Amino acid sequence: MLVRNDLHDGVVPPTVPTVDELATKTANTECQALVRLARAHFGVTTSLVTLSTPLGQRPKAVDGVLPDALPPDLTGVSSQACSMMDRMVIVPDTHDDERFRGGPSDLTVRLPRFYAACALTDATGRHLGALYLLDDLPRTLDDAQRRFLYELAGVIARGLERTDVLTDLSDRVKALEERAELMTLALDGSGTGVWDRNVATGEIHYSPAWKAILGYESHELGNRIEDAYLRLHPDDLAYVSAAMQAHFESRSDSYAVEHRIRCKDGSYKWICSRGKVVERDGNGRALRMVGTTTDITALRETAEQLQQSVELVTNLTDEVPGLVFQYRWMPDGRSFFSYASDGIRDIFELMPQQLATTAEAIDALVDRRDLAAYRQSLRQSAASLSPWHLEFRVQLPRQGLRWRQGDARPQRLADGSTLWHGFITDVTERKQIEAELQELATIDFLTQLPNRRYFMKQSEAELARIRSTDNDVAAIVMFDLDYFKALNDRWGHAVGDLALAHFAMLLRAETRVGDIVGRLGGEEFAMVLPNTGLDAAIKVARRVQQRAFRTPLIHGDVRIELSVSIGVDIMRTTDAGIHQPLSRSDKALYRAKERGRNRIEVSLD
Ligand code: GH3
Ligand code: MG
Ligand code: MG
Repeated sequence: MLVRNDLHDGVVPPTVPTVDELATKTANTECQALVRLARAHFGVTTSLVTLSTPLGQRPKAVDGVLPDALPPDLTGVSSQACSMMDRMVIVPDTHDDERFRGGPSDLTVRLPRFYAACALTDATGRHLGALYLLDDLPRTLDDAQRRFLYELAGVIARGLERTDVLTDLSDRVKALEERAELMTLALDGSGTGVWDRNVATGEIHYSPAWKAILGYESHELGNRIEDAYLRLHPDDLAYVSAAMQAHFESRSDSYAVEHRIRCKDGSYKWICSRGKVVERDGNGRALRMVGTTTDITALRETAEQLQQSVELVTNLTDEVPGLVFQYRWMPDGRSFFSYASDGIRDIFELMPQQLATTAEAIDALVDRRDLAAYRQSLRQSAASLSPWHLEFRVQLPRQGLRWRQGDARPQRLADGSTLWHGFITDVTERKQIEAELQELATIDFLTQLPNRRYFMKQSEAELARIRSTDNDVAAIVMFDLDYFKALNDRWGHAVGDLALAHFAMLLRAETRVGDIVGRLGGEEFAMVLPNTGLDAAIKVARRVQQRAFRTPLIHGDVRIELSVSIGVDIMRTTDAGIHQPLSRSDKALYRAKERGRNRIEVSLD
């Protein structure tokens, strides 16, 4: 029995004695009467029943004078014996008996002269105690008296035994009561109610806590099962009935459903109802079913709210252009995306599930040129817990080469792993614009050569390199087209432009990888040739000059041969800035002009 019926109706009134009390009381009265009977029958000074306990003898009932000390239980030694005489010890005069010598030496202790004891044993022969007859005068018992004493002891022993059984039963009932009470307390405390349904009669009993869930007092609410079904939410009726039926028909181990139920005030609550048939008839038909009901309204509301906020976050992150993510690096080096918004389809052309256990797929998409930087940036962010920021290229199957920008904040977790919260966006367009702007800022549109500022910047870097290595060398060569004003005047400005672009092409044709070339302005150009001495530079200058001469600009019917004056010098480690070698080669160029143009002059400074 799982639940006692009185559970529903409160605690048993305290005026009713417990089984234990009843048992003890009855046994005591009965034993006392028998002891009195014994004394009256035998006409002795004292008749006494003692119980043997682990701590020795304990008087249970006495009639007459209680001796100063309990008499020794001489029957104990023969407790296993079965015959009448084996269970009885009769000492007609204790003064003549060895066993009573050396007893209490104190003379005030009155020893009885006559001693008769009969063992009290239970059905299994276990020694329970003894029934004594004691008298101040020596005497004896005849056979009939002995038999009567024996039978009396038997009656007393059975009485004691009954008390034992009853006490044991009472202990168990008490333990059960305590358990039931604890269970009720625990259930009440957890907002759980208990129900007990008699399937045969259609009655159902509810615990006060059950009624409280629905807002009823413990004396309210009927106990008919039909009413119970009326309280069910109409939409839930079908599956609740089906689950109940399945359990009745033993198709399920137990019954467990979540459904709505109408409260006293008409509102509905969500409950979780669990139960089990605890009694069936011979045909397996359910007779009795008990169960619990827990209010899960708040739980469901919380779960719903949680679900809503999860949906909100998911919707939000899915709508945000780009990828919102949580990326986790385990101490063993494994990494995966614990969250990836829908944007991952666009950013990496992957599905969120593909990265849920390993992020290796990303490494395969990062452009080879940026892979080292990508890994290093994450390592560094994890080590210093500093924000991760990186612009990197990816090679995607569908979109091809694209630029991505990642930003995330790292967090160290208890297991030593690092969790980044962040987002990755598409910055391809911005990178393209940046590249265009960069070109605009550095490349001369007409000739597609680096402009003056960019040329100076690159040359300055080369000079710095020369100064730092001390034994490297670099040449600087300056070009100025001859009589260009006249060319413009003769063929028009547009042709002049073509001539400038043409010359730029010739210059480029003479440059090696690593050479720096630029348009300084107007029809002035310059070159910085790393690892090139003066003689080699002169050779390059000559080749340009010859190439210009041999490769005229053909425009329609017009052939224009370009003539150029050139000044050459080398960078020196003592040069404070690029303006110094530039100014020296410019001077050389000026001399070339002075000396008739179409010449190469070397700096004399
Ligand atoms: P010199 O032999 O002494 O160098 O004479 P020059 O005429 O080449 O020298 P000058 O510096 O007097 O004239 C340079 C001319 O180059 C002046 C200018 O109109 C022309 N020029 C400068 N920039 C451009 C350009 O972008 N396009 C065209 N078509 N002409 C340009
Ligand atoms: Mg000129
Ligand atoms: Mg000029």
